[in-house]
Amino acid sequence: MSERSSLVRGMRDLYEDELANIRLVETVFSETLESYGYALIRLPIMERTALFSRGIGEATDAVSKEMFTFDDETESLSLRPEGTASCVRAVIDANMYRGHQPKLWYIGSMFRHERPQLGRYREFYQVGAEAFGFSGPDVDTELIRIVQDVWESLELAEEITLEINTLGNTPSRKQHRDALVEYLAQYKAQLDEDSQRRLEQNPLRILDSKNEQTQKIIEQAPSISDYLDAESRRHFDEFQERLVRLGIRATVNPNLVRGLDYYTHSVFEWNTDKLGAQKQVGGGGRYDGLCELLGGAPCPAAGFAIGVDRVALLRNELGLASQASSPDVYVVALSDDEEDYALQVAAKVRAASSLSVRVHQGAGKVKARMRAADRSGATIALIIGAQEAASNQVSLKWLRINREQVTVPVAELPSTLLNSN
Ligand code: AMP
Repeated sequence: MSERSSLVRGMRDLYEDELANIRLVETVFSETLESYGYALIRLPIMERTALFSRGIGEATDAVSKEMFTFDDETESLSLRPEGTASCVRAVIDANMYRGHQPKLWYIGSMFRHERPQLGRYREFYQVGAEAFGFSGPDVDTELIRIVQDVWESLELAEEITLEINTLGNTPSRKQHRDALVEYLAQYKAQLDEDSQRRLEQNPLRILDSKNEQTQKIIEQAPSISDYLDAESRRHFDEFQERLVRLGIRATVNPNLVRGLDYYTHSVFEWNTDKLGAQKQVGGGGRYDGLCELLGGAPCPAAGFAIGVDRVALLRNELGLASQASSPDVYVVALSDDEEDYALQVAAKVRAASSLSVRVHQGAGKVKARMRAADRSGATIALIIGAQEAASNQVSLKWLRINREQVTVPVAELPSTLLNSN
């Protein structure tokens, strides 16, 4: 025997029940986003490494430590660790934002070289949305309302909390950053190793640190709220007022900075305490400078990304997970002679209804065929013997409830099936 192939670490095959759960989350996002007029965009899995290092920032873990990068003939390429940079690149490439205000959403695999554990994978799925050309904060709160609608549809509204913050506009951000570096530099030796490295590259991220000693130092650090200019303050005040008007509860977390470099003004994160170490189910914010940073014209923009796997896992934890569905109908010819007729019956049911229909395959005695019908999980078996085939009829047997078997003409089959629940 040759050596058995196996999965690459951090990759997963998704089977029936887990997949059914994930697909439900994806479907609810898709229907909700489309109902708000967001258009689907399909983005490539691979981009130039430079897109992510310019767009997301070398100082973030997602880019500096976690990318799957390799050299192609003349350039360095990477599997995408997130969707926003690609989406902005695509909008610039197609010149979609000049004179327009595209609202787009995407779905797909993202790749990060992290230590795999429950809720943390090297290939995972995100749904994201990005709105271009609006300076907000009305669009910021629309994005949050969309996600709230999804939580409500998925029965998760009580389990997920929203944290918000503002990073201010570029001048406010810069002033805060300078004050922060000056303050933290005094304690450099006491900071954890990652934070020491970030002091020069991305000091805002230090506010995110989980290290206890660093957290103590952060408690007294200058807060962005003391550096907001009038425009930044107005944006944040209106953002919060609009959330209240939309009936959305949120907590201000002054240390919420998001892992990525490109945010301005509103930032937000959705968390749960039901998934152990993986608290964050999604996040987003405004990134007014990113289009320009990636070589486009200035264009305000805001968006979010949600981890589909974690949302599905949360439904699973709460006992809400959907299960893979069995076929509705199983068509059994009692001998091979009736097989053609059975195929015709199945085709008729599929054409006349949205029921899923499986046809028995593989020869076998009557008993074995009926056992296969039962094992399929179908609700109804359509049984076709010589008599039924000769008279253009079908016998219906309910497999899950006690109900008397009936024989009906094929023409009446769709209506009998539809009225059978
Ligand atoms: P981020 O782009 O880092 O803001 O991530 C957005 C969301 O994607 C997070 O809130 C998580 O729900 C999810 N996510 C990020 N990394 C992973 C991972 N390695 N495995 C599973 N989900 C992830």
